[in-house]
Amino acid sequence: MKPILLKPVLLFSAGILSLGAYAAARPANTAGEPANLTNPAQQDFSKVEIKTTKVAGNIYMLEGSGGNVGICAGDDGVLMIDDQFAGLEPKLRDAIKKISDKPVRFLLNTHHHGDHTGGNEKFGADSTIIAHKNVRGRLLEITGSHKPMPKPGLPIITYDEGVTLYLNGEEIRCVHYARCHTDNDTVVLFPKSNVIHMGDLYFAKRVPVIDVRAGGSLKGIIAAIDKIIAEVPADVKIIPGHGQLSNVDELKEYVAFLKDSREIVKKGVAEGKNYDKLKAEKVFAKYDKYGWEFRSIDNWLEMVVTDVTEDK
Ligand SMILES: [Zn+2]
Repeated sequence: MKPILLKPVLLFSAGILSLGAYAAARPANTAGEPANLTNPAQQDFSKVEIKTTKVAGNIYMLEGSGGNVGICAGDDGVLMIDDQFAGLEPKLRDAIKKISDKPVRFLLNTHHHGDHTGGNEKFGADSTIIAHKNVRGRLLEITGSHKPMPKPGLPIITYDEGVTLYLNGEEIRCVHYARCHTDNDTVVLFPKSNVIHMGDLYFAKRVPVIDVRAGGSLKGIIAAIDKIIAEVPADVKIIPGHGQLSNVDELKEYVAFLKDSREIVKKGVAEGKNYDKLKAEKVFAKYDKYGWEFRSIDNWLEMVVTDVTEDK
């Protein structure tokens, strides 16, 4: 497995890192971010509604603002996967109470980004946080105005390659994939209910983020998704890190988009073209439909150029 590699402080501008996924790209990419995205404190969570979807068996998906939350509920207690932003903790708790009267016993972070771990300090007060070891390392980093996560918000159980939880009649497998969206991604599989939570390895039907500065790699994401597709049942239900509840057919379409993006840019870079040139040539025009609120197709082009250029 990949050794722990926590690179030193990067060139992110103040406030940016606190926003996780949206902060994940390069500084140049974040220059045009709306102000309310660079600082969660400026976001108005009062208008956010938590939407609950029963996925299968005792597994639920909660959508609000930030990464999708997974819930496994049952007699043994609640396992929560990711927790969005601190300001949403009361709303998330209300939504969970409608599913189960049991406490949130375990909280698993799929990776360290702030839109997946923002609620850690609050939920960590009475839940056991579990994550890949690099999640803990990155939550303790000081970068710009980003302060280290206070102790209650830190994972207290960490793992290198994965961990299995025997809970609510499920054998829940949490598997680390090295060098993907970051250097600390985990995919969670519920074989009995036939559900997987892919964290930010999967932005369903939308432009993803590769956090190259935190050890991410497009090549790694593609390899991980190919492996997952080969291993999961064809009818598995997929909770993506962002986007709507999905399935294998859509995941195949997504990985084809990633592969094609990489090939287009590799060819362009080999011909000596840079981001500005490729942007002017509109090489990703056919994927314009994947642009979304926080990431345009040009953001994606720039990320892929960075990834391909820095790929060793
Ligand atoms: Zn992320």
